[in-house]
Amino acid sequence: VFQLSVPLNFLGSVYRELRQSLLDMETLFNLQKVNVSVKELPDARALQLTHGGQIKFDNVTFGYSKERPILRNLSLTIPAGKKVAIVGPSGCGKSTLLRLLFRYYDVESGRILIDDQDVRHITLESLRKSIGVVPQDTPLFNDTVGHNIRYGDMSASESQIIAAAQRARIHDIISSWPSGYETKVGERGMMISGGEKQRLAVSRLLLKDPPLLFFDEATSALDTHTEQALMQNINSILREKARTSVFVAHRLRTIYDADLIIVLREGRVAEQGTHKELIDQGGLYSELWSAQETLFDADGSAKGPVISS
Ligand code: ATP
Repeated sequence: VFQLSVPLNFLGSVYRELRQSLLDMETLFNLQKVNVSVKELPDARALQLTHGGQIKFDNVTFGYSKERPILRNLSLTIPAGKKVAIVGPSGCGKSTLLRLLFRYYDVESGRILIDDQDVRHITLESLRKSIGVVPQDTPLFNDTVGHNIRYGDMSASESQIIAAAQRARIHDIISSWPSGYETKVGERGMMISGGEKQRLAVSRLLLKDPPLLFFDEATSALDTHTEQALMQNINSILREKARTSVFVAHRLRTIYDADLIIVLREGRVAEQGTHKELIDQGGLYSELWSAQETLFDADGSAKGPVISS
């Protein structure tokens, strides 16, 4: 029995690894929606997070086609261990930044560095293991809710899954379902709302606990109250672990407290700074902020925190 169980255990772990990498690939494809064409260099090395995960775009130019550049000589730095927001008008290239960092595509010119290592010289596996993302549209698997969270870390225990769901503010909802964590996602189908899906994706990411975290419109389907509560939980985890995190967001109230806000316009950095600095500058960010504040007033929903400027 002993002799048999060793290879079986080994196979189990290979299987888990395989499932994990399939999941990562699936998330990647979902984010990218096109075929991966980049190739790993023969001498590629595993990413070493020697400086806590600083991300640097150095004079990057990129377009999906030659005729239409999306990023033009873009340079920006996401400091290690900080919460950074990327905002800007629709189509300015925010999600493209994420795709380049994951290396779904290679830059036309310039470099993307993580802790001074060019992403083109890093193994794809180590790159994608180090970065976790809550994408705009979360893939859920035809499996139980518990398993859908477990995909973040196939070796997680039940209590770790519950803890992640609690932090993502979805545990109480799951517990109220007759089959709880055993509820089949496929069966409930339509009954899992967009906001619940997003919180399952956040649970999965918190369970994966990667050194670099990306949230691409991760809370857009939530009501103001739930969104604020979830953001508070996420913020405290990020602070406690000093994780580098990047939030792409349209609703500025979710990111006004970021350590750095980078405003993109037409593939370039239009301005950057803290909320207060950007409001004082009276540029694009301050226009977007006032427009959203007016909007929230008009539809009667709760306004964001009052910030003196
Ligand atoms: P939003 O805020 O609306 O999500 P964004 O700032 O994230 O927008 P991107 O998704 O990065 O913008 O897209 C930037 C530009 O690149 C857009 O004009 C988009 O139409 C174009 N684009 C995005 N993906 C592709 C693709 N796979 N092939 C060709 N063009 C693309």
